[in-house]
Amino acid sequence: MITFKIDGREFKAEKGQTILQVARENGIDIPTLCHHEAIEPYGACRLCIVEISRGGRSRIVTSCLYPVEEGLEVKTGSPRVISNRKMILELLLARCSKNSVIRELASHMGVEQPSFKSEYLEDNDCIVCGLCVRACEQVVGVSAISLVNRGITKEPASPFLESALACIGCGSCYYICPTGAIKMEDRGDIRIIHNWKVEFKLKKCRVCGDYWAPEKQLEYIRTKWGLPEDFFDICPTCK
Ligand code: SF4
Repeated sequence: MITFKIDGREFKAEKGQTILQVARENGIDIPTLCHHEAIEPYGACRLCIVEISRGGRSRIVTSCLYPVEEGLEVKTGSPRVISNRKMILELLLARCSKNSVIRELASHMGVEQPSFKSEYLEDNDCIVCGLCVRACEQVVGVSAISLVNRGITKEPASPFLESALACIGCGSCYYICPTGAIKMEDRGDIRIIHNWKVEFKLKKCRVCGDYWAPEKQLEYIRTKWGLPEDFFDICPTCK
C-alpha cells in the first residue's frame, strides 16, 4: 500500500492507482471532461490538474494520469492550480464560446470571457478530448473514427472525411461526448449520425413495434457472440 496526502488528509492506495481515482473514491471533487472509468486516461482536457510536492519541489500534473507515490502531497485547489485551471477554461471558452457545458464550468470558476479570441474557433462544440475515438476503439472495438489534422484544426473525423464505413451506429460516441459535439438523431426507422455522415436502418421489435437499435449494430453483436438469428427480434423491454 502507498501512503500519501490529498489536501492534508492521509490516504492509503494501491500501487498503480492514479491521484484522480483515489480522490474520487474518497469524495474529493476534481473536475474533468475527458475522463471516463471505462476508458484509458488520456489527459487531454487538463482540467484535472493538481499540484504535487515531495522533497521540497512542487509541480503541476494531470491527476487522471499521475500514479500515487509514497509520501506525495497533493493539493487540489492551491492558488497555482486555480490559476492554471482558469487559464485552461479560458482556452476552452475561446474555442467553445457558445457551449453550455463549457460556459457553466468556466462560470463556476469565475471565468466569463476568454482573453483570447479566434474567429476560426467560435461556435465549435468539440474540445478534441478524443473520448469518442477512444470509446469507439476501446469499448465498442470498431475504431470507425480517429483524430485527424494538427494544432487548432485537429478534430475527430471519419476516414477521409467521408462516410464512416466501419461505424455500426451504436451511438457510444454520442452518449460519451462531454460537450454534446456529436449530433445523432433517430428519425422514424433511421438513425443518423451527422458527424460521421452515416445512416442506419433501425430494427423493429416483433412485439411492441418500436424501432430500438440499428440493425448493423445488432448484427455485429450477434456475429461476435455467435447468437441465434432471431435473438434480437424482440426488444429488451418486451423480452
Ligand atoms: S456510433 Fe460509430 S463511431 Fe460512434 S462509437 Fe459507435 S461505431 Fe464508433
